[in-house]
Amino acid sequence: RDEVVLVGRSNVGKSTLMRELTGHDVPTGRKPGVTRQPNHFDWASEGFMFTDLPGFGFMSGVPEEQREQIKTDVVRYVEDNADDILAGVLVVDGKSVVDIIDRHSGEGEVPHDVELFHFLRDVEVPTVVAVNKMDKVDDRDERLDDLCDRLGILPPWQQWRDTVAPICAKRGDIDALTDALETHFHEAKRDDLL
Ligand code: GDP
Repeated sequence: RDEVVLVGRSNVGKSTLMRELTGHDVPTGRKPGVTRQPNHFDWASEGFMFTDLPGFGFMSGVPEEQREQIKTDVVRYVEDNADDILAGVLVVDGKSVVDIIDRHSGEGEVPHDVELFHFLRDVEVPTVVAVNKMDKVDDRDERLDDLCDRLGILPPWQQWRDTVAPICAKRGDIDALTDALETHFHEAKRDDLL
């Protein structure tokens, strides 16, 4: 198992984060929804491969049908490759994620981010939520606790450092994420040895 998949809505900073993680120049600001194929990047130092799965959720100019198709493709990719996937990273925008989840929590409706989080856990892919753009968040602890609550994990967030990683990809401040990933790498290695 040597693959880490990144998923998340468009514009959360996935390309920026990918560049920080891999040192590769990832084109940012691509037209949302257009990149349908997974992009692979090597994390040379660790020998891991990151896969950037297409963005999903609201994308202006992309019809609902195509958005659903993208989500279906992401789910299928993870299902087909679950045995090779070491960890999943769900990237969210710390500034807006709680509001977006609340706006889409209605009768019979499960917000995309929450749905993907549970999906990854259901297929037993250890998942880290990379809460990006923390530079734009004032009430840090409160926001992260609210996010835990919406994801169905018990606050305080500090109990979940292997699952919730506040980062600022733009400034290269991603230690919380790499630390969390390392925890999962070591657990996987130990499990593989058993
Ligand atoms: P993607 O669509 O998820 O790949 O998002 P991009 O990487 O293209 O980033 C979308 C926008 O968010 C760009 O304008 C980035 O500069 C900005 N961005 C990315 N990371 C951060 C961050 O940590 N803080 C802030 N304030 N902006 C960020």
